[in-house]
Amino acid sequence: MVLTPYRNKILTFNNYFRQRKYTKPIMKKLFILTLMLLSFAQLVFCQESLSTQNVILVTFDGLRWQEVFSGADKKLITNSKFVSDTSDLKEQFWTDDPEQRRSMLMPFFWNTLAKQGQVYGNRKYHNLVNTSNMFWFSYPGYNEILTGICNDKAIFTNRKKANPNVTVLEYINSLPSYHNKVAVFGSWDLFPYILNRNRSGLFINAGFEPMQHEHLSDQELLLNHLQQQLPSPWPSVRLDAITHHMAMEYMKQFAPKVLEISYGETDNIAHDGKYDGYLYAISRTDKFIEDLWNYIQSDPNYRNKTTLIITTDHGRGHLFQNSWKKHGRFTPGSGQTWFAVIGPDTEPLGEVRTAAQFYQNQIAKTIAAFLDVNYNVYAYAGIAISQVIQKDKQEVPMMFGMVQLKK
Ligand SMILES: [Zn+2]
Repeated sequence: MVLTPYRNKILTFNNYFRQRKYTKPIMKKLFILTLMLLSFAQLVFCQESLSTQNVILVTFDGLRWQEVFSGADKKLITNSKFVSDTSDLKEQFWTDDPEQRRSMLMPFFWNTLAKQGQVYGNRKYHNLVNTSNMFWFSYPGYNEILTGICNDKAIFTNRKKANPNVTVLEYINSLPSYHNKVAVFGSWDLFPYILNRNRSGLFINAGFEPMQHEHLSDQELLLNHLQQQLPSPWPSVRLDAITHHMAMEYMKQFAPKVLEISYGETDNIAHDGKYDGYLYAISRTDKFIEDLWNYIQSDPNYRNKTTLIITTDHGRGHLFQNSWKKHGRFTPGSGQTWFAVIGPDTEPLGEVRTAAQFYQNQIAKTIAAFLDVNYNVYAYAGIAISQVIQKDKQEVPMMFGMVQLKK
């Protein structure tokens, strides 16, 4: 039963009447009638429960919507300034048809995930996804994804500063039914700060941290060695294969209910100006997600009760020849993003081609909505994306203009 919200409303009505001294019989009758209507609304809107019991958030750092929706860029794939062997790369990733081309780059994303889920952000159809923060780089982006707010006064650099904001993951982890069932794996060493590990107590493994717990598996011991022995080209970002396999091992042992996996190579290789490397990183990450989804659908803890949300922290430039390498306030277009959702409560609508505007600040409450958690730390956070949750599983008493999802 979902009496609590209505009980609150009743108290509110009572207080209202008492304050205003509306004691006339006609007003009392009106009040009783309103209550009856509310009970009816409750009956009308009590719909099927959500099947989602786990949510996994996956991010590709700085992956442009241009590559997601159209595959390799012709001007870049043929440019020897950015690509060492243009013919080899064209063979792998080029065909004239953009829909075929994107499937060559991200076969799992387009052939499985998009067909069974929903994909947003193809600006060709005016389906727009943007950051609401004004910076268009990583810390403000992850903060916005994870809190639903853009706190431009506090988060305006990528420095290692503990996030003053309470993320949706910290909030969920504070609830008794999710305590110690939330985990974060990231290639970038800033995640312990973005999620304020000292305050939140979240399990976070990021950067070059070894896996640490009492029952390390042989695979985890090997991964701890490998990440020291395989040199990463970047001082603050480890190779995504390490992040991926550490996250998978953790899932197998601890079955977290909420998990974030943040892959980082796409952004760093783009900054290095290697378009071939950027395409290979996109393709590798697509395979990681395939691996993750296959595991989800083969494990009784996750099968048919897990929603996967995939997005990016920011876009990249597109106006000038070099601007794909960069992002930030002075690189137009880098506030343009995208997202995708697949899971038991998401209708298989595929690529959504209707004109609409979404924001990065809607992801946090969407994660909470799938779990029927009321993440209301910030009243001004972006609202949950109701389109990704099947209509017959939503309870929407419109007379209050509020969206209440029923478990
Ligand atoms: Zn970057």
